[in-house]
Amino acid sequence: SPARSLIHQDTKEDLTASIKSEGSGRVSLSGSGSTDDSRWPRQNSLSMKEWDIPYDELKLFEVIGTGRFGTVYRGSWHGAVAVKLLHVNALSDHSVPLDTFKHEVATFRKTRHENLVLFMGACMKPPRLAIVTSLCKGMTLFTHIHLRKDKFTNNKSVIVAQQISQGMGYLHARGIVHKDLKTKNIFLENGKVVITDFGLFSVTKLCFGNNARGDSLGIPPGWLCYLAPEVVRALRPHASLHLPFSKATDVYAFGTVWYELLCGEYPFKGQPPEAIIWQVGKGVKQSLANMQASRDIKDILMLCWSYRSSERPDFPHLLSTLEKLPRKRLARSPSHPVHLSRSADS
Ligand code: ADP
Ligand code: MG
Repeated sequence: SPARSLIHQDTKEDLTASIKSEGSGRVSLSGSGSTDDSRWPRQNSLSMKEWDIPYDELKLFEVIGTGRFGTVYRGSWHGAVAVKLLHVNALSDHSVPLDTFKHEVATFRKTRHENLVLFMGACMKPPRLAIVTSLCKGMTLFTHIHLRKDKFTNNKSVIVAQQISQGMGYLHARGIVHKDLKTKNIFLENGKVVITDFGLFSVTKLCFGNNARGDSLGIPPGWLCYLAPEVVRALRPHASLHLPFSKATDVYAFGTVWYELLCGEYPFKGQPPEAIIWQVGKGVKQSLANMQASRDIKDILMLCWSYRSSERPDFPHLLSTLEKLPRKRLARSPSHPVHLSRSADS
């Protein structure tokens, strides 16, 4: 089809261009990725075939968006799907080693949870590397909060946060660190939370400061405020480094999502990256003085944002804390709805 050949053309261009990225950030896809599943590939190589989707079976329609790792297309493969075509620069040594990619797919394939996007398969023949998932309906929390300026009542926020905690708790129980939990990677489908992009590729292998920016640190907009102090302190210009992502850094990121839900904005709003890096690195937190919320709600935030990673709660703990919140509020104000209304969804 004409649409298909157009896509092929685009992909070819991707191969010769350097890896494109969101904002000023640059990402190198080199390195071995996370090591959660070190048994890959030997023991899994046979079962991997089940998840291999021949590229020719995919129909690609319009581009939904471009992120740090690749371009997302609306597509069709036995129904509506999202296809994330990875930016691969085959001409440089920043290209994705196939084993790294397969490792990430092996991680993805282990996930089955109501609040996680459905992984359907992957194209694993370079240079066509793509991940195929179900197409999320509805909008991301980012769109709700920052673009549409939808207000989330405390009760609504609690319900959303509970579902995020459930999905994240499941991921962590399976030994998967998300590494990129943010409101852009959380969809709301008729009140149901769907988390995307977990454990995806070498966010750990960021390539800072390219030719154009000299020795500056390339930071994609809206990324910094999700980074825990230990990650911020590990940021370096001119280095493709292994950032210390962990379950605890996911919890820190969850804290930021919780803040966005409650306040409708990012922490450290309007401050330049240098100021944020300095404060977070020193353990200075966004002030909650002007926030309209109960002590319990603010406590969750402060715990998630703990400077020391060992002091941050885990997701099962967060879930049980959150489960105690709405009942309390309901006792005080019975007029608040318990369930998410559909008005916030498309
Ligand atoms: P980011 O998460 O930083 O926005 P991505 O590359 O992950 O960048 O996504 C690019 C665009 O594609 C975003 O607008 C995102 O909402 C959309 N998108 C990603 N995955 C899906 C999906 N499974 N279903 C629908 N839209 C998606
Ligand atoms: Mg994403």
